Amino acid sequence: AVAVGRRMRSRGKWKRVVRVLREVEEGCESSVGRLRQVVDAMAVEMHAGLASEGGSKLKMLLTYVHNLPNGTEKGTYYALHLGGTNFRVLRVHLHGQQSSLLEHEVERQPIPQHLMTSTSEDLFDFIASSLKEFIEKEGDGSELSLDRRELGFTFSFPVKQMSVSSGILIKWTKGFSIVDMEGIDVPGCLQEALTRKGLDMKVAALVNDTVGTLALGHYHDSDTVASVVVGTGTNACYLERVDAIIKCQGLLTTSGYMVVNMEWGNFWSSHLPRTSYDIDLDSESPNPNDQGFEKMISGMYLGDIVRRVILRMLLESDIIGPISSKLSMPFILRTPMMSAMHEDDSPDLREVARILKDILEIPEVPLKLRKVVVKVCDVVTRRAARLAAAGIVGILKKIGRDGSGGITGGRRSDMKMKRTVVAVEGGLCSSYTLFREYLHEALNEILGEDIAKHVILKVTEDGSGIGAALLAASHSSYNLDTVQ
Ligand code: BGC
Repeated sequence: AVAVGRRMRSRGKWKRVVRVLREVEEGCESSVGRLRQVVDAMAVEMHAGLASEGGSKLKMLLTYVHNLPNGTEKGTYYALHLGGTNFRVLRVHLHGQQSSLLEHEVERQPIPQHLMTSTSEDLFDFIASSLKEFIEKEGDGSELSLDRRELGFTFSFPVKQMSVSSGILIKWTKGFSIVDMEGIDVPGCLQEALTRKGLDMKVAALVNDTVGTLALGHYHDSDTVASVVVGTGTNACYLERVDAIIKCQGLLTTSGYMVVNMEWGNFWSSHLPRTSYDIDLDSESPNPNDQGFEKMISGMYLGDIVRRVILRMLLESDIIGPISSKLSMPFILRTPMMSAMHEDDSPDLREVARILKDILEIPEVPLKLRKVVVKVCDVVTRRAARLAAAGIVGILKKIGRDGSGGITGGRRSDMKMKRTVVAVEGGLCSSYTLFREYLHEALNEILGEDIAKHVILKVTEDGSGIGAALLAASHSSYNLDTVQ
């Protein structure tokens, strides 16, 4: 009788585990029908954000980048990239003559955690010192005279730009929170720090990481019209016709285009499949009600959604008895750990067991439960990748490249669909194979294979930094012959 009782209790516990799993699956449901609603909502919000300042949660920020690099740029340029988890310094050598050939050296280092919430002076002193060390270590390149050092600065946060080389920080995202910087001129802070460190350099271009990625993508392939970053945070930018940017009527450009930084991380729509885990994560985050799309898609958050699901599963089922306090610590399960569990192909899921034990202090998890954990990772990542795909199709729809003839209606055209390249960057795209597969799969489902075959996602690395150097080159006061 004791054994029977034990078996029944255990079965009851499993039922509760499975119930939590089913609820998560239902909550994250992203059928192609639902994704198409997200596509439409994205295109509609893009229109609203372009129509007036504050017209949408999508900020649709002006970048003042009218021409993208084309291979004629020449010289040696430095670039700095301050974004999510890592900080990068780069030096890029451009050969000109439309060769699209470039060489670059890069140094990456993690951003010390305390600097993310310290003062702007501390943060920018760290940046300037890293640049100085890099220059001293790598040598300065004999071709570079002192007064010609120009810099591209990739700053991966929402910025209201006044020109291609100036702009103020609107709001921090991704866990950064230096209050004295919001509303402040970003290149100004860098320029002051460079002077403090005795570096005589000028910020020639201030760019979002998506804009840098688009610039490099376009440099190599002129069919590149948009770019998407899915890393610590997520965002997209694209080439928009200036006459469609209603909120800045009268703006004249020679090309008739401008790159628009969408800040899609802040996109919101009631069609998004939102669960109670997302709601809790948002309300406990440093920026509640902001970056809703980002919190369902990007690397900073996916691991934490999974942690929350596992926590509830174990609490509600009592399947392994008391749980460690580690499991209640926000952000303890980082996305690279989650992807390692998700992609564990050992028959006994050894890596899953190791991570659950080492990171979350859950020892001896039965194989059956390890499988459930993998399933949770799958559900969360699949939803993220499919939503990112819907976002991309939203952009294609807005610019009339989704094969439907544009949002303003019109008949579904039989016009030949143009080859359309989207540059993609960020850890989830480059290092998380299943994320990338789900992204492609969803693009095919939403667009249909006939259209999707014309849409090419090109994954780049360091494009956000290299692209900033390219834009510094094409906007350099010393390189005016290359500005068209
Ligand atoms: C920022 C964007 C950035 C994106 C990807 C978001 O949190 O607001 O400016 O492009 O992360 O790094």
